[in-house]
Amino acid sequence: MTTNSSLQLWLYDTTLRDGTQREGLSVSIEDKLRIAHRLDELGIPFIEGGWPGANPKDVQFFAELDKNPLKSAEIVAFCSTRRPHAKAEDEAMLQAILAANTRWVTIFGKSWDLHVTTGLKTSLEENLAMVSDTIEFLRNHGRRLIYDAEHWFDGYKQNPDYALQTLKAATLAGAEWLVLCDTNGGTLPHEVTEIVQTVFNQQQEWKSGFSQIGIHTHNDSDMAVANALASVMAGAKMVQGTMNGYGERCGNANLCSLIPNLQLKLGYSCIGEHQLNQLTEASRFISEIVNLAPDEHAPFVGRSAFAHKGGIHVSAVERNPLTYEHIQPEKVGNQRRIVISEQSGLSNVLAKARTFGIELDKENSQAKIILQRMKELENEGYQFEVAEASFALLMYEAIGCRQEFFEVHGFQVHCNLVAGDETSSSLATIKLAVNGQNILEAAEGNGPVSALDAALRKALVNFYPQIATFELTDYKVRILDGHTGTSAKTRVLVESRNNQQRWTTIAVSPNILAASYQAVVEGLEYGLLLYSQEKG
Ligand SMILES: [Zn+2]
Repeated sequence: MTTNSSLQLWLYDTTLRDGTQREGLSVSIEDKLRIAHRLDELGIPFIEGGWPGANPKDVQFFAELDKNPLKSAEIVAFCSTRRPHAKAEDEAMLQAILAANTRWVTIFGKSWDLHVTTGLKTSLEENLAMVSDTIEFLRNHGRRLIYDAEHWFDGYKQNPDYALQTLKAATLAGAEWLVLCDTNGGTLPHEVTEIVQTVFNQQQEWKSGFSQIGIHTHNDSDMAVANALASVMAGAKMVQGTMNGYGERCGNANLCSLIPNLQLKLGYSCIGEHQLNQLTEASRFISEIVNLAPDEHAPFVGRSAFAHKGGIHVSAVERNPLTYEHIQPEKVGNQRRIVISEQSGLSNVLAKARTFGIELDKENSQAKIILQRMKELENEGYQFEVAEASFALLMYEAIGCRQEFFEVHGFQVHCNLVAGDETSSSLATIKLAVNGQNILEAAEGNGPVSALDAALRKALVNFYPQIATFELTDYKVRILDGHTGTSAKTRVLVESRNNQQRWTTIAVSPNILAASYQAVVEGLEYGLLLYSQEKG
């Protein structure tokens, strides 16, 4: 797609400031530095680092970043306007902004008269002076200014004339950007369009000074992305948002959705094509750093964003991806997945087999055996959509090439629970054979599953040293409802990983330990299989 300068947009990321306001999200200085550098690689031109005047951690963040600066992004410090009737030069928080040593500063100020009189408890005139003075002070110290008009849309709806005066004050004081904020997230796209157009019309009348318009939206009405798009289509040139939509309450506009919509659907230019196809990876990297599980169903970057499950969908997508995909997943660094489930037809099984490098034919009896076996197991409570490693083992078995790395003969687990004692220990003994050699091994763990896992590894590591790089990362148990007259069953999911990959195995049994054992054993077996495929 060709772009011209009128289609150039400036992205502004506030994951490190607004994003960290999300409930349950906290980051260290080290985390913030890693995220900033990752966003820089992604090609985001403005990265808001934090509010050094309000947060000592942010003071240190800017100091650390000074030692190891970003390659191309501008790091931005954030601050409020000066307090009522104070002098800008006397404000400690503005001194902290200067000390942060950034080229760009974002100042937020009040647009809504209600917030001025009841929040700040000052006059409407004084608020205008606070906006002007603060911007002028920072400009006189060589800073370039972005003005965030807080509660802009709500303020405009209540008192349009005053709200516009605040923007005029910021413009005349020298702000290069006026960012209209839907702070409470309650505005709808048609209102955004109308109000942004009004601002453009008013700007023509302000004669001196000309600022560009930006947008900052929140997701309380599930409209953050739609409102940002509406503003851009009405002429806004800066778009603020956060990675994965993190932010206070329901979050901010999600850059992971905004960027591909702007770039792939509307033809605007935001980041390079080679950067756009790092988007999925960057989204997951950041969710790892902030230690929040990624949203599997997130548009564009979620694991399920291009997953096909219904049999008709799968065969159609195999013939032509356009049938059920709105964009090519590779454009955003994601990938198509064929989901295996009870509803699957043969075409899903064939497509899935292909992703594991197994070529099967529709007429081939092995494909039918796999489908048959899968349906039997799903009837028992297995769910292969989440446990692709177990499904792969099932396929290898059906086509007669499941490699036997070890043979399991049995296990025992002893648990020692003492009332009132928080610490409990378990001891597992297992019997297995490798290449005809019998092995009996025992190990302790803080629970039965970790003891089993430890005993298995101990037994196998001499034969397969790569097991030392495997790690059991998640263990989930669900009790499946028993039908009348039958006892309940337990479904266990085990997630494992090595240095490069993660995989999930599944087992179902009336006995929780038997199910856990099988899932752990298959987890190790699949890890060994990956290793041998890599080598072979
Ligand atoms: Zn915000």
